[in-house]
Amino acid sequence: MNKLLVFGHQNPDTDAITSAIAYAYYLNQTGIEAEAVALGLPSEETAYALNQFKTDAPRVIATAANETDTVALVDHNEAQQSVSDIKEVEVYAVVDHHRIANFETANPLYYRAEPVGCTNTILYKMYKEKNIAIPADIAGLMLSAIISDTLLFKSPTCTEEDELAAAALAQIAGISMQEYGLAMLKAGTNLDDKSIAELLNLDAKSFPMGDQNVRIAQVNTVDVQDVLNRQSDLVAAMEAENSAQGYDVFLLVITNIIDSDSALLAVGSHLDTVASAFGVTLNENVALLPGVVSRKKQVVPPLTEAFSK
Ligand code: MN
Ligand code: MN
Repeated sequence: MNKLLVFGHQNPDTDAITSAIAYAYYLNQTGIEAEAVALGLPSEETAYALNQFKTDAPRVIATAANETDTVALVDHNEAQQSVSDIKEVEVYAVVDHHRIANFETANPLYYRAEPVGCTNTILYKMYKEKNIAIPADIAGLMLSAIISDTLLFKSPTCTEEDELAAAALAQIAGISMQEYGLAMLKAGTNLDDKSIAELLNLDAKSFPMGDQNVRIAQVNTVDVQDVLNRQSDLVAAMEAENSAQGYDVFLLVITNIIDSDSALLAVGSHLDTVASAFGVTLNENVALLPGVVSRKKQVVPPLTEAFSK
């Protein structure tokens, strides 16, 4: 096989970027030639982590089949979140902590899925199992992803395994978890200089639910109102995206990382279904979702259920 390309999902978050780096290094240590690449540029949060641990951002690819026949997926499995020509390459392995949907292969593969808070927690266990030493800079990046995905251990997706992995990685990296973690998360909340299009694309994923195509974007902030001040522009852009991309519903989840709750901005058809999924009333397209910080655990499941009825 050619050099294996390892990548996370489109609109990469810190876990998508760093799990590709950590898994490529792991594969290289086991004698498999692998390169971490990405399906987009790092966010400001991820850039902060890469800079802290003196690591270059992975090269961005638009397609894979032009340079390899074999890939490994980290932090995702769903085809519509993956590289555009995923059907034309062989998937050698998946390491992921998401629902499995829209995924099939022609051949057997390595598939490691665990319902933990972060792909890097699974990778940490894989390093341990194979007795591969984790370099300090990679440990720091892996820790950054666990902090990012669990919002410093406050997300309901966070498990004891994530906390144990993070503590061990912080020791290897030689940094203070809480202090570094808050600084890194805050680096990702600088939204004022982002255009409306950038805000909606920072961390957005598409989900087929029933016969609906649901787009869910999430941004982290320390001031929800600051984002909602741009509500009319956001709604107009979300409506335009719905018609251009064929989304039935576009949701923006604006998450306050300090208070650990979110505001929901919903645009599209079937908004009554969206409201009932969360047991809320939308007021001019907006509802507060107390205690909701996790798209994966607190947004996608109730919506999937509501849209499957
Ligand atoms: Mn991710
Ligand atoms: Mn993740």
